Amino acid sequence: MASIDLQSSEVIEDRLRQKTICNSISCYGIGLHSGLKIKLTLKPSDVDTGIIFYRTDIAGNGACIKADYNNVVDTRLCTCIGDGKGNNIATVEHLMSAIHALGITNLRIEVSGPEVPILDGSSSPFIFLLNSAGLKLQDSPLKAIKVKKSITVEENGSYITFLPSSSLLNIDFTIDYGSSTFIVKQHYLFSLESSNYIRDISSARTFGLASEVEQIKSLGLAKGGSLDNVLVVTNEDVLNPEGLRYEDEFVRHKILDAIGDIFMSGYTMIGTMIAYKSGHRLNNIAIRKLLSDKDAWELVEVSKNNHPIILSDYSKLAIA
Ligand SMILES: [Zn+2]
Repeated sequence: MASIDLQSSEVIEDRLRQKTICNSISCYGIGLHSGLKIKLTLKPSDVDTGIIFYRTDIAGNGACIKADYNNVVDTRLCTCIGDGKGNNIATVEHLMSAIHALGITNLRIEVSGPEVPILDGSSSPFIFLLNSAGLKLQDSPLKAIKVKKSITVEENGSYITFLPSSSLLNIDFTIDYGSSTFIVKQHYLFSLESSNYIRDISSARTFGLASEVEQIKSLGLAKGGSLDNVLVVTNEDVLNPEGLRYEDEFVRHKILDAIGDIFMSGYTMIGTMIAYKSGHRLNNIAIRKLLSDKDAWELVEVSKNNHPIILSDYSKLAIA
C-alpha cells in the first residue's frame, strides 16, 4: 500500500494513527423516526476492525451491521444501514460524523433498537460521550482513501464533485432553498485537517421545513421528532424558542451529515468534496461512483515524515 505525507503544518500527530476509545460508555435517548427509547453503548475495538454496529434487541446473537456504503439501505431523511435480513439501524450519520471528526477508526456500537438516538439533533452529545470515554491511539497507521481524479454526480439540480487534494477532507458546501424560506442560500468551507469541528460544526442541528412535517409524519417517520431535537423552519424563522446556534446552522449541519456519510466508505478521505444542494442520497451515490472507479482513488497509509507519535499524551486530542 502506498503511503502519503500530509502537507499541512497544522495536522496534529494523532491524525496519523488508528484510534479507538479507552472505556465503554452508554447513554439513553429517543429514536427520531421510531420514537422508541434506545440505549446506545460505545465500546473499544481492535486495529483494522472499523466501525461495527450491533442491534442487541434481535433474538439470538443480535444483528451485526458494518458501517459500509454497501450496507446503506435507505436515505430518506437519514442514513439507514441494514444486514440484508431485514435488521436495520437508522440515523447513524451524526454519530458517524463525530467518530470521523475525532479520528476514531475502530469502534463497536451497540443499540437496543432500530436507530441511533437523536439526542439534541447535532453530533455534540456524541463528541461529549466519546471524549468522556477517552481516545486511545493504536499502534497502526491511519488508512485513507486518496482521491486521484475528479468524479461528479448530479441529480435534479444537485451535484457533488470529489477532487484530488493533498490534505484530509475539505468540504465546500452550498445549500439553496430559494427566497421563500428562512434558510435562503448558505455556503460554508470546512477542512477536517485545519478547521475546528467541535466548535464550528458539531452543535449544528438537523432541520426540517414546517410545510413538510405533516408529510414526513404520514410516512411513519419522525415519531420522536420535537423542537428539542429538530430545527423546524418556516418562511420567516424557526419555531424553536431558543433560536439558532449559528447564523448559518443549516449549511453547517449539511457538512456534519456529509462528514458522517463519507465515513461510510470505511475510511477518512484525502480529497475535496464540492457539494451543491446535496443530501444523504446523493452523498451515498457519489461515494459509490467514486469507489467503483478503480482509477479514481487509492487506499493509502497516512504519514508525516515519520514524526514520532506521543502515545501517552491524550490531553491534547480533539480538544476544542
Ligand atoms: Zn443530519
